[in-house]
Amino acid sequence: MTYDQSAHITDLQARNTGLVERVRILERVANDQESVYRRALDAFGADAQIDMAIEEGAELTVELMHRKRGRQHNAPEEIADVLITAGQMRLLFGAEAVDAILVGKLADLEQRIDGAKG
Ligand SMILES: [Mg+2]
Repeated sequence: MTYDQSAHITDLQARNTGLVERVRILERVANDQESVYRRALDAFGADAQIDMAIEEGAELTVELMHRKRGRQHNAPEEIADVLITAGQMRLLFGAEAVDAILVGKLADLEQRIDGAKG
């Protein structure tokens, strides 16, 4: 093995280790989003995260307007940002209350859909 090959292999091993760690983190957060939301609220505080929720909502508004106008947009990223901040707001304002309202609203929506089919 030449020196260059050895360095290349070392580089690939380091990248592989980084990717394996990234996949491990992705799997963990995907399976436990709530703990990340709680940690964000604890780390940055409620007021800062409310500001983030407001900001992300505004960013999604802009991206959806771009989409409506046929412009290039980044709606998927902003939807993800809104879901992340909404997840934190759900915990901040009471998950049980939010979930109960959510289920009620989904039921109402389903009735409107069924009514629209007429
Ligand atoms: Mg954003």
